[in-house]
Amino acid sequence: MAAELIRASLLSFSAPPAEGVAEAVQHTEDGVLAMRDGRIEFAASSAAFVAQGGPLDACEDLRPGIALPGFIDAHVHFPQVDIIGSFGTQLLDWLERYAFPAETAFADADFAAAQAERFMDLCFAHGTTSALVFTTVHAAATEALFRAALGRGARLIAGKVHADRNVPKELADSADAVAGCARLIERWHGAGRLSYAVTPRFAIASSPAQLSAAGALLQRYPEVLLHTHLSENAAEIALTRKLFPAARDYVDVYDCHGLVGERSVFAHGVHLTERELERLAERGATVVFCPSSNLFLGSGLLDVAKLQRHGVRLAVGSDVGAGTSLSMLKTLADGYRVGQLQGTSWHPLDAFHAITLGNAQALALGDRIGRLAPGYEADVVVLNARRNPALSRRLERVDTLQERLFAYMMLGDERDIERTYVGGRLAWRQAGAN
Ligand SMILES: [Zn+2]
Repeated sequence: MAAELIRASLLSFSAPPAEGVAEAVQHTEDGVLAMRDGRIEFAASSAAFVAQGGPLDACEDLRPGIALPGFIDAHVHFPQVDIIGSFGTQLLDWLERYAFPAETAFADADFAAAQAERFMDLCFAHGTTSALVFTTVHAAATEALFRAALGRGARLIAGKVHADRNVPKELADSADAVAGCARLIERWHGAGRLSYAVTPRFAIASSPAQLSAAGALLQRYPEVLLHTHLSENAAEIALTRKLFPAARDYVDVYDCHGLVGERSVFAHGVHLTERELERLAERGATVVFCPSSNLFLGSGLLDVAKLQRHGVRLAVGSDVGAGTSLSMLKTLADGYRVGQLQGTSWHPLDAFHAITLGNAQALALGDRIGRLAPGYEADVVVLNARRNPALSRRLERVDTLQERLFAYMMLGDERDIERTYVGGRLAWRQAGAN
């Protein structure tokens, strides 16, 4: 297959910029990206491309666009995209009033299939090429999402949701249903670029028997992820303590059932205690910072610096539909605000590392996605601010890469996603783009 060649400003990371590793930030103002057979074949300066005999005039010129690794959303709910921005509640009431009714509709397999296709389109339009996704309790809806992602050649991780108490009966399964997911794992984990995540909704919604079944499933399939919620909201934590009186704390509820390990991904973690942070760090588990959701539901401000001091692995997620946008740029803007309220300013280089290589590593995919480097899978987003007047004007006044990225981080949104490539193929372009 002929290579797809684009010329743009290239930005990628090989390590967290804050750690001061040499070459952590790889930026080329005038670069060429060659994609062939789903992978990146070349990513360096146009001068280097010409020097090795590359045909510069065969490149599609997307300058002054910035090409980055496709964004990765480490926590998002696909059945909730139509309830973004629902008024007036905090977590537990929001679930009852908005999320549960929305998810109940996914019992209709045709509806779920249409929504799955739409969700994938929306992700690409927002520059997101990979995500760790909550589906619903319905196996058919989960399979619909896998099918939609497979059809697009996307790298996606998802799993059927488990809940056997404290949810409407239409959204409940059973402890036995967890073991039944072996069928889904065997069918979808490793199909195309898909992976499976065992997905109990949260401690409140699962009996001890169901959490034990989830732990047993992870033992049987150690290569799959565990994806759930943790320590998001005060009322949720209080109810969890009541339901699991023998557990030391919220982390211990999951720990006692074999659910805390290096492939465990916990959304939120806003109110974790010192002991919980130590335990998560010791086990190598990941906490997903979901700033948009935490602000919208009033859940609290995650102290990212404190988690970093404890050595807890971090990822970043939109948490749509409690988060208010699928845009990882807008998610970063909210993350910056959460930091500011606690006296820290999230450096834009670290922020863009977080939604590319950082999230890839948190999802155990750091050797495949998250970088513009030869051999990596060719998931790429190209940013261009021409449809965003406020950002365009701001960019006229910036001098450094840091300032430019910060402008995108604070003023950017889906209008600025000029192109999205998935597995080396054009998956989204702005109408009217060149
Ligand atoms: Zn969530």
